[in-house]
Parts: sequence; structure tokens; C-alpha cells
Amino acid sequence: MTLRLQGKTAFITAAGQGIGRACALAMAAQGAQVVATDRDPALLAALPALPGLQTRVLDVLDKAAISAMAHEFAGVNVLLNAAGFVHPGSVLDCRDEDFEWAFHLNVRAMMHTMQAFLPAMLARGSGSIINMSSVAGGIKGVPNRFVYSATKAAVLAMTKSVAVDFVAQGIRCNAICPGTIASPSLRERIAAQSALSGQSVQAVESAFVARQPIGRLGQPDEVAALAVYLASDESGFVTGVGHVIDGGWSV
Ligand code: NAD
Repeated sequence: MTLRLQGKTAFITAAGQGIGRACALAMAAQGAQVVATDRDPALLAALPALPGLQTRVLDVLDKAAISAMAHEFAGVNVLLNAAGFVHPGSVLDCRDEDFEWAFHLNVRAMMHTMQAFLPAMLARGSGSIINMSSVAGGIKGVPNRFVYSATKAAVLAMTKSVAVDFVAQGIRCNAICPGTIASPSLRERIAAQSALSGQSVQAVESAFVARQPIGRLGQPDEVAALAVYLASDESGFVTGVGHVIDGGWSV
């Protein structure tokens, strides 16, 4: 049986844990050559040794390093931008430095990876770019996620813009808008919220679950299955879309 991503090379940011990690493993399992990158070498070292999977340390805030990677891996067919950070708070809490930081990591760095990898994709006449947006901002308002939501709406807008500009040249660009996914950083946010509010960790987690009509959190592997589809030729007629995967949260 032919694997779904046989013959493709995928470059993934923030692949050390959570959704990015799950995507790297799922794409390698489907036969892709995967370059799994993260700013944290310890997380990369903990990835299982799978055929076709290699790792590189990359801080996406480093534009020159992104450019060097694009030269090293000129044959990339699939670019998956997973790097992102969740700032809590409303508009009244957002300091200028939070705004700059959030937009640098969640938006500008994604622009830089697309600028770096797109030219070689265009030269080959094909490529699939997958950008991690969020239900927060991408689809609906979520309490205490002001600047995060602003960045994820920007991710969706950039995705549509790239999709439209390059659709006739064989490039597809899609976004994924996850709901609440049980990743390591979600665990950290639950712990932080518990410490701040005095509620138990279990009570805070239950509140996250309660807002999901499906009655549970999503798993990184479930997002990865969607990413594999978007990376594969099965989604060849799909571009410029924010794909919601949220257990019915935004319905
Ligand atoms: P996570 O937050 O648990 O892990 C983030 C990873 O990003 C870590 O491996 C970290 O080392 C890496 N990273 C952080 N800064 C980096 C940088 N400057 N350069 C390179 N790597 C860096 O992962 P997650 O929760 O699965 O989130 C992944 C993406 O999915 C993010 O863009 C996030 O906004 C988005 N998302 C997550 C959820 C969720 O509920 N977990 C929901 C919607 C969207």
C-alpha cells in the first residue's frame, strides 16, 4: 500500500511537543521525509527515531536561521507552521511588549517561513502550506484571549492571502483552527489559572472541558490527522480555508 505522504518532504516548526510534534510523527508515519524543528533541543532529542524523521534546532524568531534552513531543505513540499504562544488577558491587560511579542512569534515568524520556503515551491510548481490558527480569533471570540485572538485572526487572513496569490501556480495554503487541545502548554495554562484563581487544577480543567460540546478536550493526534490530509494530494482541491477542529465549540 502506498503511504499517503510518500515522496513528500515536510518542514515543521515547533515540532518538539504538542500539535507540532504529533504532526511530525504522523507525517513520518505516512512516508514523508520530515524535518522536525523546535527552539528546544531537549524536546527534539526526545522525539522517537522514525524512518525519514530528522531534527533541527530552529528558533522561528531568527529570520536568518529560517532562511538558512530553506536553503538547506530546498525540496520541501509541505510547510507546517505550528509555532505559537498564548498570551492570556483582555485588551485592558495587553501591554505594548505583549502585543509586539505575540505578533512577532505568532504572525511575523510565520510570514518569514512562508517567504523563505515559497520560492522553491513556486519553482517546482507545487506546495502545501499549513498554518496553525485557532478557533480563538480565527472563528469566534474567546474570553481572556485578546492579543492571542488578534494574532490567530491574522494567521487566517495571511493564509487566505497566500492561497489567493499563488493558487494558479500550484500552491495551496490552508489554516487549521483547533479548539482546546490537550497539549503540554494547555496543561501549563490550566496550572497557572488554578494558581491564580485558587481553584483546583481539576476544577479548571473541567471548565475547559465544559465549553467543548463534545464533552472532552481534543488530542494532538486528531489535529495531526487533519494536517496529514492537508499535506497530502487527497486535499488537492482545498485551499484558502480555515479548517475547524474543535469538538463543536464554535457551532
Ligand atoms: P505547545 O504550546 O505545547 O508547544 C509549543 C512548542 O513551540 C514547544 O515545543 C516550544 O518549544 C515551541 N516554540 C516556542 N517558541 C518557539 C520559537 N520561537 N521557535 C521555535 N519553536 C518554539 O504546543 P500546542 O499547544 O500544541 O500549540 C501549537 C500551535 O497550535 C500553536 O500555534 C498554538 O497557538 C496552536 N493552538 C493550540 C491550541 C491548544 O489548545 N493547544 C488551540 C488552538 C491553536
